[in-house]
Amino acid sequence: MKKVYLDYAATTPLDRRVLNAMTPYLTEVYGNANSVHSFGQEAASAVDNARRTIADCINAKRTEVYFTSGGTEANNWAIKGIAVRYREITGKNHIITTKIEHPSIIESVKYMEKHGFDVTFLPVNSDGLVELDTLEKAMTDKTLLVSIMTANNEVGSVQPIKELAEIAHAKGALFHTDAVQAMSSIKTDVREKNVDLMSFSGHKIYGPKGIGVLYVKSGIKPDKFMIGGHQERTMRGGTTNVPAVVGLAEALRLTVAEMEDNNAKVKAVRDYFLQRVQSEISHIRVNGGMEHRVVGNANVTFEFIEGESLLLLLDLAGIACSSGSACSSGSLEPSHVLMAIGVPIEIAHGSIRFTFGKDTSREDVDYVVDSLKNAVEKLRIMSPLTRD
Ligand SMILES: *Cc1c(COP(=O)(O)O)cnc(C)c1O
Repeated sequence: MKKVYLDYAATTPLDRRVLNAMTPYLTEVYGNANSVHSFGQEAASAVDNARRTIADCINAKRTEVYFTSGGTEANNWAIKGIAVRYREITGKNHIITTKIEHPSIIESVKYMEKHGFDVTFLPVNSDGLVELDTLEKAMTDKTLLVSIMTANNEVGSVQPIKELAEIAHAKGALFHTDAVQAMSSIKTDVREKNVDLMSFSGHKIYGPKGIGVLYVKSGIKPDKFMIGGHQERTMRGGTTNVPAVVGLAEALRLTVAEMEDNNAKVKAVRDYFLQRVQSEISHIRVNGGMEHRVVGNANVTFEFIEGESLLLLLDLAGIACSSGSACSSGSLEPSHVLMAIGVPIEIAHGSIRFTFGKDTSREDVDYVVDSLKNAVEKLRIMSPLTRD
């Protein structure tokens, strides 16, 4: 049976070239990068090179790149580490984020709320964008941190990060961005965007799982997150995952080098998909705006049906996509992102996220749209919600 993977926002396959770069560090070069002997030093030098590559890719200094176990840890560290430390230093206690963040941000911010912080979740417009004056009005003298994701994982909206960071800085707050979904298709220069902290992850850019980075601008000192050994300049203890670090660097290097070509390819298949779906399936709506959107995302509501049933039928046809995000599927709650952009609750359940990657072909899209038409028709015949 044909298989088509349209869930690149959940995770991406490991690029073969990344695997090749990692292989020596999974086999021959097994030293602990903290050991002083030659086995350790060989591993340490690979970590050094990886850190330099990553720093170059985002226009940071090597000493501003901290390895973590992934995007979730980087986000936890940014929120908790900055909140705790800067309340101590400044006496401020207000955190601003948005209603459409990844759960690792939303839950970290709620955790700080439990520990006495005031928290504001900014609304977004129907395109999934934070309006600049919404942030401006939410800022107070007590605001110590603003955290706004660069690109959303469900509807793909891309925020005006530079402008938002400027508003935060004007009021003396730090600015963090979760760039996990942005790294594969948006050139990210931390100095140009003027962010203080930025999270990203290996497995969303054809790299390995279980590795990520928190960029921390020099001079900014979050509290330590993992307390232990001297790794990561004592800020994040734990034996360095050398093969994953090497893999993340190679994945990011390739992503940046090949971004233009891949973006053109991915956008072409995504747009072809949307054009076919819009002209061949009735009673649908595309969620989120098209202008400020990552090239690989399409989020479509099919009226009168349950997204979960549609996912199942598509899965039977070998097609992988997602309702909401992987983290919230399985729950009966409608997606918090679709709610925030104003999708009516009655139809939010019929929403599917299709995310495209560098290996998606036009033939894949044709197969998916044909299967989708069948599945939607079948479900609508059975649906008590169908009105026509
Ligand atoms: C996947 C994702 C994360 C979590 O990253 P992990 O490396 O899987 O922990 C965080 N934020 C966004 C926007 C994501 O898409």
